[in-house]
Amino acid sequence: MTAYVADVINAVYVVAVIVFILGLRAMSSPTTARRGILYAGVAMLLAVAVTPFSPHLSNFAWIALGVGIGSLAGWYWARVVQMTAMPQMVAVFNGMGGGAAAAIAAVTLLGSLAVHATAGLSLAGAIIGSISFAGSMIAFLKLQGWIRSKPIVIPGRQVINTAVLVVGVAVGVVALWKVSTLWLLPFYVLLLSYGALLTLPIGGADMPVVISLTNALTGIAVALDGFALVNGPLGDAGYAMVIAGVLVGSAGSLLTLLMARAMNRSISNVFFGAFGAQEEEGTTIQGSLKPIEASDVAVMLSYASSVIIVPGYGLAVAQAQGKVKELADLLAQKDVSVKFAIHPVAGRMPGHMNVLLAEAGVSYDKLFDRDEINPEFPSTDVVMVIGANDVVNPAAHRQGSPLFGMPILDVESAKNVIVLKRGAGKGFAGIENDLFYRDNTRMLYGDAADTLTKLVQELKKL
Ligand code: NDP
Repeated sequence: MTAYVADVINAVYVVAVIVFILGLRAMSSPTTARRGILYAGVAMLLAVAVTPFSPHLSNFAWIALGVGIGSLAGWYWARVVQMTAMPQMVAVFNGMGGGAAAAIAAVTLLGSLAVHATAGLSLAGAIIGSISFAGSMIAFLKLQGWIRSKPIVIPGRQVINTAVLVVGVAVGVVALWKVSTLWLLPFYVLLLSYGALLTLPIGGADMPVVISLTNALTGIAVALDGFALVNGPLGDAGYAMVIAGVLVGSAGSLLTLLMARAMNRSISNVFFGAFGAQEEEGTTIQGSLKPIEASDVAVMLSYASSVIIVPGYGLAVAQAQGKVKELADLLAQKDVSVKFAIHPVAGRMPGHMNVLLAEAGVSYDKLFDRDEINPEFPSTDVVMVIGANDVVNPAAHRQGSPLFGMPILDVESAKNVIVLKRGAGKGFAGIENDLFYRDNTRMLYGDAADTLTKLVQELKKL
């Protein structure tokens, strides 16, 4: 009977894994991404639903309590979260995955310290899971603005960090060697400290890379835990963890590489470079900020033959995606060519702008990535920068700038640049933007939704 139940559970795990893979596949394109998320949710539900039937499982009340609290908290938070606060949520959920992996490793270690081969895998899971948990929590605090997003640099940090890691791992090995659970506590304290120390010196603008890397680490930690569990009484659940962990680990690693490439940073530079720690010195911005009225911008737009819209974080804050679509449609009716330039890290999460504009019904063939659109700026009549800042900051071309090396949208080469923002607020990286002071730039101040509403009204009069 028990063998029969185990076979059914395994069969469900296999189905869940296939659905997971189909979900991941569907997430690779914006048109099918929604379906991909649904598939992944169903797969997760299947895996979680059959696991309690595993032979040898006990403590059902505790499991039910954990699942209940987790589901309610997750459901509530996902419902109330603002789209712009999504990265913080992803960081916390991801951190929970890393924390869970570290906690499972602790349980396995407590139970199997004598079996060194299995315990070795758990130890590796514990190390990686702890770093991922602490790193994700620091990313959350920075993104939420509860600690400053600029690099927090401790003198001699490389030596301190390496020492904390080496001593932490050594303490873990001693725990295995001596078959002593007493050594596990300092081991976890040291590894969690290492995760935090590693992330504190990383500046806000590099956070996308950090989040995707900690995500990959969580996957690897879960897979290692799964390997260790396979040798225990709950072996079959271990297989499911190995596969899910490997999927998350590999997808997360690929995303990390893509994000790092988009920011023109090597992974080691992100983690060990403390980029942006020093303020840029010796650069004074020339020129002045030149405000413009909505009515004048409307005239400019209606006489233009080409307009490129650059959306950024501020568009998301203002929830002005519907208004921008209305504006683009109006201009199209006036035979103005309208394109959207999408920077890979515009907004606060990968694909943020694509999701936002898709929500408003802007068709995908109007969206262009950096490489496609950059050569078009010099021949463009009007570029409208809506709530974007870092992704259009020419400081990225200047050596010594905290943004140096980040590929940007070269909007400054357009004939006219109109910037929609509320005031003198800086971008996420906290750096001044001299684009706003250029001769060909005009500032249209106000909340993006209000300003776009005015622009639409003015355009309708023309
Ligand atoms: P930025 O955060 O650099 O700039 C946004 C600008 O929008 C601000 O200067 C602000 O100026 C303006 N703004 C804010 N609210 C409004 C509003 N209601 N109406 C009009 N304007 C508004 O945005 P970008 O998109 O250019 O750059 C994204 C940054 O976020 C990058 O540094 C990136 O590295 C980072 N990041 C990206 C992640 C990702 O995965 N995409 C994840 C985490 C960080 P003002 O206050 O004057 O209005």
